[in-house]
Amino acid sequence: MGQRRTLRRAVGCTGIGLHSGKPVRLDLKPAPAEHGIRFVRTDVGVEIPATLEHLARLDHATTLSRDGVSVDTVEHLLSALRALGVDDVRVEVDSPEIPVLDGSAAPFVILIHEAGLQAHQTPRQVLKVLKPVEVVQGGKWARLSPADHLRVSYTIGFDHPLLRHQAASFRVTEQTFVEQIAPARTFGFLRDVETLRKNGLAQGGSLENAVVIGETGVLNSKLRFEDEFVRHKILDAIGDLALLGHPVHGHLEASKAGHALHAALGRKLMATPDAWSLGAFPALPSFDLPRLPGLAAEPA
Ligand SMILES: [Zn+2]
Repeated sequence: MGQRRTLRRAVGCTGIGLHSGKPVRLDLKPAPAEHGIRFVRTDVGVEIPATLEHLARLDHATTLSRDGVSVDTVEHLLSALRALGVDDVRVEVDSPEIPVLDGSAAPFVILIHEAGLQAHQTPRQVLKVLKPVEVVQGGKWARLSPADHLRVSYTIGFDHPLLRHQAASFRVTEQTFVEQIAPARTFGFLRDVETLRKNGLAQGGSLENAVVIGETGVLNSKLRFEDEFVRHKILDAIGDLALLGHPVHGHLEASKAGHALHAALGRKLMATPDAWSLGAFPALPSFDLPRLPGLAAEPA
């Protein structure tokens, strides 16, 4: 049976928030068994568990809040923590938003790798999907159905000549996450940037941390994957599923969905008691995380 895992030592980095544009210091610290993933706003002394109960806004990023205090844009970090099997961790930030870094989850993979992983004595439980659950909103939908591992299959389509249709499907393992999913960056359309900025969003956005799609092409020099956009949606979905509090064994299929629909699906699953169960998790293969080239973590 697998055991819950935490970090071997504390690690940290600094960056800016994608939406706030504000500087932020992030520290990931080891935590005791059953602590779960918890965000701590050290500037105001508020601790926010990463659970569906603490979900707040879901428009352009996933925001958690408690007692009127929030942490924005948690999804990329949550995605890396969940995919690499970090069950118990204290995530400290001194500002309201997780740093965007390069817009992907790759820098968080590096941080977790630098920290190393440590097993607790406590067994880990997995949330097994027992029967399909689905949410539909207009032309958008998301569904979870039974599988003996986590698979995410995603389709996106936009009213834009460069992104009419893109689809990808991955069995989510440490290996596929690190190599195929984590490096995929946040993306946005140039035509939306002005509106986002007027609404106080994307203040920290730049070609350093997002792929920007213009009318005739991508403004960045090159893509990391031909289908980087849909891979990033898969990254986001894994992060949002982490709010269920356990590794999930199920097949998530989604079409044109986003944070709000991911959360609605999670809530519907929880509200359907015969659609899931908690059970023992099979042993994980190893603690050796694949390395990404060219990125280094800053020691805490
Ligand atoms: Zn994202």
